Amino acid sequence: MYLKLIQEALEKAGYSPGAIDGIDGPLTQNAIKTFQTDHGLEPDGLVGPLTHTALFQNDIAAEPENPADMPLDDQQLTPHFNRQAFKCCCEGRYCNGFPAEMNPELLRRLENVHQVLDTPIIVTSGVRCPIRNEEVGGIPNSRHLVGAAVDCYAPDRSVHELAAAAEDQGLGVIIYENQGFCHLEI
Ligand SMILES: [Zn+2]
Repeated sequence: MYLKLIQEALEKAGYSPGAIDGIDGPLTQNAIKTFQTDHGLEPDGLVGPLTHTALFQNDIAAEPENPADMPLDDQQLTPHFNRQAFKCCCEGRYCNGFPAEMNPELLRRLENVHQVLDTPIIVTSGVRCPIRNEEVGGIPNSRHLVGAAVDCYAPDRSVHELAAAAEDQGLGVIIYENQGFCHLEI
């Protein structure tokens, strides 16, 4: 049984052990040795603790998360904004980073603000999960929860210039003068 698991893990890792038959034949031996060589291990054909760990870690790493189903974190959402910038700032403690997707209309308007001001805009908070929202003192029904708000600043412009450009795009604006950023929402 154990040898079958090893053979399966080898096959998943791309090292063909031949039939998954639980028999330690020459193909399985070859696959183990090649795997060991590729992973900087002594190619003795024996699955000791080091080989076991490498083999089954590799197995976990090879487990597909099916990227086609998930928008990539670093996907470019608009010419100047990457999805990564809007990720929940709980750093994965309470959510997977995107409890909601960013509102496309908000993104379109934010991109317009960038193009009108022709200056970089730094996002300090995009989407937030409920726990993180509470942690940072957000209001319970914050627009951040549904990806419809963004906190940001433009390093080369005042918060008032940023706010005015955002208002021109029909965005709701709260200026946090002392903290030097604007809350924009749709
Ligand atoms: Zn979160």
